[in-house]
Amino acid sequence: MEGITVLVDKCVGCKLCIKTCPYDAIDLVDKKAVINDRCTLCGACVEACHAYGAIVIEGWEPVQTGDLSIYTGIAVYVEHRHGKLVPIVPEIIGAALELKEQLEGQVKEQSGGDTPVAALLIGSGGSGLAQELIEYGVDEVWLVDHPDIHELAEDTISDVAVQIISEKKPAIVLGGGTVIGRSLLPSIASRLRTGLTADCTELTIDAESGLLRQTRPAFGGNIMATILCENSRPQMATVRHKVMNPAPRRPGREGTVVTFDVPVQPSRFEMLEFVAEEASAVNLADAEFIVSGGRGLGEPANFRYVEELAKALGGAVGASRAAVDAGWIQYSHQVGQTGRTVKPQIYVACGISGAIQHQVGMKSADVIIAINNDPDAPIFSIAHYGVQGDLFEVIPELVRQLKETA
Ligand SMILES: Cc1cc2nc3c(=O)[nH]c(=O)nc-3n(C[C@H](O)[C@H](O)[C@H](O)COP(=O)(O)OP(=O)(O)OC[C@H]3O[C@@H](n4cnc5c(N)ncnc54)[C@H](O)[C@@H]3O)c2cc1C
Repeated sequence: MEGITVLVDKCVGCKLCIKTCPYDAIDLVDKKAVINDRCTLCGACVEACHAYGAIVIEGWEPVQTGDLSIYTGIAVYVEHRHGKLVPIVPEIIGAALELKEQLEGQVKEQSGGDTPVAALLIGSGGSGLAQELIEYGVDEVWLVDHPDIHELAEDTISDVAVQIISEKKPAIVLGGGTVIGRSLLPSIASRLRTGLTADCTELTIDAESGLLRQTRPAFGGNIMATILCENSRPQMATVRHKVMNPAPRRPGREGTVVTFDVPVQPSRFEMLEFVAEEASAVNLADAEFIVSGGRGLGEPANFRYVEELAKALGGAVGASRAAVDAGWIQYSHQVGQTGRTVKPQIYVACGISGAIQHQVGMKSADVIIAINNDPDAPIFSIAHYGVQGDLFEVIPELVRQLKETA
């Protein structure tokens, strides 16, 4: 494999690397390790072989070890566009504040420590947003407002973020699972030689170790995996939109703005024009009421039941993947792991069983109402209100009563 070398003289054939490799990319040939083309250059074998130093990767440095306790506090990467925070930012701050509370609860029992939450605000025009971030609850804003850093200059932003994080040493860095966040945050993590869990649906602090528990769907959504970053810092994660509770804004709240004077390299990206996406007819992400239909509707025409209830509530129509796959409704209505993640005030699931892949997209709704004729349907385990019955009877009655009280 290019880039990775086994120093045959040093290899003792101990097989430690083979046991460690997560990709089954090492064979033992004549009692020597041989790397095959499944290798991703992840470096796990280099660490496993540190006693013998028989495996080397060109330009690879081991992850940071040493005193990890010098890393403290939480930093939130702030995405902004056209002088405004993108909608996920208050949600990430909300997640950070909940983690702060958990960490301080634990640490105070031990040593009385404090966990500051900082906002990493990089880019042209950023200073106009600092006060808003403080009002959402951050203690400090780490600011680089430079005219050359446009909002899509990911390479420059990554470079600046790495410099600030290396200096301030936060224990946790969070970002949004947005188009930009999904590309920028891994670039920062890889340059800091630390791990990152993408698209988390839950973040908590491990009561025993104080480590960040980063939970996300895995293996096609069939299990929820909780990932810990034990040996390097910061612990990094991106979070899904509409999953975490947004921090409330407290006008007039006070905090500190720290301006960084770091070298800013020119970006390789030039922004030529911004073309706004045409507003979608289905805006599930911002809907306050959503009525979703599933396979229990039986046929496409029966979506009219769901539409009527949505109309009576003044809400939007959602759907399970089964309904979308059957061609009963367009994909833009799909809620779930491979559809939209939503967080309405009220989510009504009609004829939806509540598979884990559906739940991932809607379980953060304030109130979940399930209508299903199967008392054992999993949707009832997360519903705040459940109606066990035939949706073709229940929905018209609900609509009738809503119209009466309107
Ligand atoms: C990788 C992957 C990604 C996926 N992503 C998604 C996703 O994004 N979103 C998603 O929804 N699914 C997703 N799925 C599919 C998911 O696993 C389920 O198959 C799907 O959610 C089932 O849809 P459903 O609840 O409509 O259908 P079913 O599971 O068939 O449930 C139908 C329900 O309707 C009830 N019912 C039937 N008749 C009536 C009636 N007359 N009155 C009341 N209730 C009735 C039944 O009791 C049943 O509970 C994904 C699966 C995989 C493997």
